[in-house]
Parts: sequence; C-alpha cells; structure tokens
Amino acid sequence: MTTSGRASVHVKAPGKINVFLKVGALDDDGYHDVAIAYQAVSLCEDVRVSDASDFSVEVAGSVELSRVPLDGGNIAIKAARLLAARTGYPGGARIRIEKHVPVTGGMGGGSADAAATLVACDALWGTELPREELLDLARQLGADVPFALTGGTAIGTGRGDELSPALAQGTFHWVLALADFGLSTPAVYAELDAHRARHAQDIFPADLRPSVDAGVLHALRAGDAHMLAEALHNDLQAPALHLEPSLADVLELGEQNGALAGVVSGSGPTVAFLAADVDSALELQVALSASRLNVVRATGPVHGARIVGD
Ligand code: ATP
Repeated sequence: MTTSGRASVHVKAPGKINVFLKVGALDDDGYHDVAIAYQAVSLCEDVRVSDASDFSVEVAGSVELSRVPLDGGNIAIKAARLLAARTGYPGGARIRIEKHVPVTGGMGGGSADAAATLVACDALWGTELPREELLDLARQLGADVPFALTGGTAIGTGRGDELSPALAQGTFHWVLALADFGLSTPAVYAELDAHRARHAQDIFPADLRPSVDAGVLHALRAGDAHMLAEALHNDLQAPALHLEPSLADVLELGEQNGALAGVVSGSGPTVAFLAADVDSALELQVALSASRLNVVRATGPVHGARIVGD
C-alpha cells in the first residue's frame, strides 16, 4: 500500500508547440544550444498510475501507437523508475497512458507522458518531492520534460530545458495537421548540420548562444495572433521539409485556406497553423479535412502536468 492512501492518480499533461525555435552552432561537445518559445496546448495526454510491485505500461489513444515502446524503453517507465530511485520508494507502478499527442510528431508527447508520470507517482507514493527536485528529474529525462511540467508559455535556452516563464495573455487558436509518419529529432538536427556545413561559405554562421527574437515576446505579451503569425520561426523547418518535401504542400494548403501563418512544430512533421480566432480555426479545420488531412484544433496556452479528478 502507498503512503498516500490513494488507489490511483490521474494526471493530464499538455503537448506543446514551439512558436519560435532557433538552433545555435554545433558546440565542441556535439550539442547545440537552442532558444525556444514554448506554448503548451490543449492537446493532452492522460496518464493514470496505480500501485504495483513492479513497473509496467499500457498505451491506448486516438493517435497511431505502433512506435510507442511498451517496455522499459518507454519514457513513462523511465520517469517512474527515476523517481523511485531518487526517493528510495520500494514499490512499482502500473502506468496507463491515453495518448492524444501524435507520436514522433514534434509536439513533445513522450515528454508529456514523462512529466505526467512524475507528478502522478509522486502523489500516489506520497513522496511529495519539492517542485525544484521534480524539475531536476524532468531535466534528466529529456530537454522538453521540464516544460511539460510547468506548461503555460515559457522561454527555453541552453538545451531547451533552462526555462523562464514568458508573459503572455489571451488565447491562441491553432489547427494542427498531423502526419501519418514520424520524423526523428536526431535525423532532423543532422540534416540541419549537413546543410550548414554545405553552405558554410554563403550563409551567416549561427550564434553559439541563440536568443528568442523580441518580436515573439512582444506578440505573446500582447496576445496578438496577427503579430505572432509574423514572428513564428523554426530553424528545423527547412531540414524537416528537406527530409519530407510533402510538408511544403501542407503549409501552402493551410495558408491558402485562411491560416495567418503555419510552422512545422519542433522537428516535425506536425504542422501548426495559427488562426485569427475560433471561427477561422473552425473554417480552416473543415477546409483541411476536406483535403484529406488529419487535423485537430487546439488552444494555448494551457497549464502543465496536473492531477485531475476521475
Ligand atoms: P519532441 O518534440 O520532444 O522532440 P516528439 O513529439 O517528436 O518529441 P515523442 O512522440 O515525444 O516525439 O517521442 C518519440 C520517440 O520516443 C519515439 O522514438 C518513441 O519510440 C519513444 N518513446 C518512448 N516513450 C514514449 C512515449 N511514452 N510516447 C511516445 N513515444 C515514446
């Protein structure tokens, strides 16, 4: 029996859109610093944990699930094990994930599962780690996990995991075009590096320590969708398009059908379209569905991983 006295805990954690992503030059250690403006959106993962003597995971949901590991490779199991190791908790957890964020879609679904599992196990086991320590475990699990824990709107620097909250107001309306294939984040970064190496003579070298453009911060602060549309940017978009040229047609289709702007989210292949308001988002959703794209609507920002009542 857990010390919390609960039989199970249900946590919701959000997927994210990178409204701005700049990738720095390759560091000596083979990594890049990034500058990211994250927005948590209403496309969420539902994670339920209950007491068990060992660790297991089951996965269901509305997205293609074949690429989700069901063994210790699942990031939710890694999260639960990490928390148990940190706190000395002797038992395990049965983890049930209901996925709504596309897998390898560039929206941080796995990171949301990890953040949700940390919060859920911490409550189930009654370990009650201070927030800073949970954030520290989140960082060890992956660069996007701390943001899934905090949610809202934030700026990430370093590897993307050094977070500071960004002032934001209002609600932004997104239409997300989900692909029926995934793109591997390391492959997209490798394509960016190869492109930069090929064009070293004719493009400006990337900053080693990039920062988020002032225009993005301004747009978020003003809650102005038109302004944000002008400021959307992703250095990983060109390499993602290079690996998957069909994404260029998706971007064009959205812009022809009333999107203020579109951007590949993170390393793709999800394309996020920003709409002026809820009515334009609905119209865009209908138009893109008619073109046989798999689209969902989402709003942002929303809060990070948190316990919900069943
Ligand atoms: P990011 O935007 O953070 O780069 P992503 O959204 O592109 O991530 P995810 O779906 O979060 O990608 O993770 C994809 C990879 O992680 C796949 O290789 C998958 O096998 C592995 N993985 C491990 N655990 C999970 C999980 N719980 N859900 C989804 N993928 C998982």
